[in-house]
Amino acid sequence: MKTDHTQKEPRTPQDVSLKAGLYLVPTPIGNLRDLTFRALDILAGVDLIICEDTRVTGKLMKAFGLKKPMRVYNDHSNERDRAHVIKVISEGESVALVSDAGTPLISDPGYKLVRQAIVEGIEVTALPGANAVLPALQLSGLPSDAFSFIGFLPARSGPRKALLEKWHDRPGTLICYETAPRLLESLKDIKKVLGDRPAAIARELTKLYEEVKREKLSVLIEGLEKNGPPKGEIVVVIGENKAEDAETAGGETIEKQLLAALKTLSVRDAAEMVAGATGKPKKAIYMLALKLSGKA
Ligand code: SAM
Repeated sequence: MKTDHTQKEPRTPQDVSLKAGLYLVPTPIGNLRDLTFRALDILAGVDLIICEDTRVTGKLMKAFGLKKPMRVYNDHSNERDRAHVIKVISEGESVALVSDAGTPLISDPGYKLVRQAIVEGIEVTALPGANAVLPALQLSGLPSDAFSFIGFLPARSGPRKALLEKWHDRPGTLICYETAPRLLESLKDIKKVLGDRPAAIARELTKLYEEVKREKLSVLIEGLEKNGPPKGEIVVVIGENKAEDAETAGGETIEKQLLAALKTLSVRDAAEMVAGATGKPKKAIYMLALKLSGKA
């Protein structure tokens, strides 16, 4: 679809004739006015909208005075459902994929459908728009030059810690989605595995009770233990692991303890001793010991 940049006040949907294809349309994560003009044009112009829940998307459509045929496409959709969407598009129709809120495919359904559409040579158009990751990163006050999005952390502690171990040495800021009831236990696991890093909890972004808390993980945990679980939707942003930020244990930084141990012990033994003394993950301490000994 070509956008007409000459139109001065595109307050109402432009009358667009859409090419057959799959359109990935982001919807607001709270504030309805975050729907873009282009998203409005597409929703007004497509032949069919596929969505997680027709009631949720129905409300959005109603808010913008739109009415379109809708069909469910969600995490339970299968090969047959995808084949149906592909067939509809192959026959010349334009289809918009939306999720309940935010950008489709980002911890939401759509990846398999897009992959299938690409294989079938169908044109796929992705619109930029509302999403919870980027505003959380922007508001976190943590470095935004390089970051990794982890998606939702696993619900159980064992798999959660195993997953976090894999991200331990990843450079840059880490971002994950979390639910309010699981937040405290998750933060405890994050601290256990990644250390007491600087972090931010971005809650209810773009909504009335939007709030961002920026503290070290230990302080955020303390607050939750005192005040109970928060309400609403949450993004957790975690600062990078920096050797110079290493936690102090008994008044000494881990780095100092390692340097002292390395004077008399091998890298492996020094790491084992300091990991045992501080309760920090062995692998991380070993990597730091390697670095400090110049063997990394
Ligand atoms: N596709 C969406 C996006 O682009 O952000 C995310 C969908 S995912 C199923 C829902 C999760 O996104 C929530 O559990 C929460 O972690 C995060 N989220 C969505 N809206 C949010 C908001 N307004 N404030 C904070 N986090 C939000």
